[in-house]
Amino acid sequence: MSDPTALDPRLAEAARHVPLARATLDRLRRPRSSLEVSLPVRGDDGEVRSLAAYRVRWDTTRGPGKGGVRFHPEVDRAMTERLALGMTLKTALLDLPYGGAKGGVRLDAKQASAAELERVARAWVSGMADVLGPERDIPAPDLYTNERIMAWMVDQWTATVRGHQPAAFTGKPLALGGSHGRTTATADGAKHVIDALAPKLDLAGDPPTVAVQGFGNAGAELAEQLFHAGYRVVAVSDSRGAILDHGGLHVPSVRRVKERGEGLRSVLCEGSVCEAREHERLEPGDLLTLDVDVLVPAALGGVITEANADAVRAGVIVEVANEPVTAEADAILAERGVTVVPDVLASGGGVTVSYFEWVQNRQGLRWGAEEVARRLGERLRATAAETWGRAEELGVPLRTAASALALERIDVAASARDSLT
Ligand code: NAD
Repeated sequence: MSDPTALDPRLAEAARHVPLARATLDRLRRPRSSLEVSLPVRGDDGEVRSLAAYRVRWDTTRGPGKGGVRFHPEVDRAMTERLALGMTLKTALLDLPYGGAKGGVRLDAKQASAAELERVARAWVSGMADVLGPERDIPAPDLYTNERIMAWMVDQWTATVRGHQPAAFTGKPLALGGSHGRTTATADGAKHVIDALAPKLDLAGDPPTVAVQGFGNAGAELAEQLFHAGYRVVAVSDSRGAILDHGGLHVPSVRRVKERGEGLRSVLCEGSVCEAREHERLEPGDLLTLDVDVLVPAALGGVITEANADAVRAGVIVEVANEPVTAEADAILAERGVTVVPDVLASGGGVTVSYFEWVQNRQGLRWGAEEVARRLGERLRATAAETWGRAEELGVPLRTAASALALERIDVAASARDSLT
């Protein structure tokens, strides 16, 4: 981008559809704060190495920063800022009382020992302590971070502030103030969104067919829920391989094999449904262009681009990963009539249950699993319906409608703050 303060092009397009105060768009041109620090961390080999670490609050008009922390070798300031803007739109769309934030450490977590990960997690909290807090900025898990890492982080926070503040982090273990429903929240939310939109989407297959890229926390859980709901999940992939069965995979069996650490390539038939079948191996990239009703990218960003968007044959793409469809691909898919359910909506379940966790922590209460599930379903289904309605009203894709709704909410809050009288 030549002008670092230029508005993201997809956001600029959404802004054309809603009357906004000029000051609102100005707020969204650059981060509220963007912190880059160097974390010296000792490895198990005794050497100290300095890791690049980030925390960005893109906007805090509607409340404190909220967003995950990822440990990944490709993390940099630009990626963290882009994702923090995305969180700003997601929390506004879902009407959560937050702004948007994101953080990370540039690190290959797969190569790190548990002891090294603990030192990195604790160093990240110490490095970012000035900008964090339950009313300032509340981190959560993201790629290659999980509730164990959140436990170390909240423990480090306790030592830093000399007090117990569970609401400073979400995605914690239940024993440390975590919420029921957090681990499956993203998949649960995506399923609610699919259920809410299914009657309006043209899911031609009977049953509708699905392919899922990324058989991790979110992707595997969603694949299993769709399987139990009667969808035919024909292909799934992870970082090591992809499998295909046009007759439908027995997803719980695939999951059990993967959980035993054997990888998808080694899936053998197990249980009545799949005993008679062999799974075909598939080139992982080919999963994205399978002839299915629903394609679920649930792994990495930027996987559907102008290079392969023309080859996508799915009628509906449900973005569980952050930013799996690029802006260029969006334009091609819209032209071809492919419906993209955007990440801000489809993967909103995680931050919604994070919000429920924060609320419970601040009240000193614990809600039961059913209450969390009920509240999640209500919010996600209502937001999906609202987004669909706005898309129809404006005659725009769901992503533009979702961004327009988010911008409107930010604008109302910004105008209230900025009003002169
Ligand atoms: P995860 O680490 O549990 O799973 C990611 C999966 O993707 C793994 O199975 C990995 O093997 C697979 N993968 C990696 N590279 C791949 C490739 N090239 N092809 C196919 N598969 C590949 O992570 P997760 O929590 O399930 O998150 C997945 C995505 O969803 C991320 O983009 C994340 O930012 C997004 N997301 C997650 C949450 C959440 O609460 N978990 C919330 C919102 C968005």
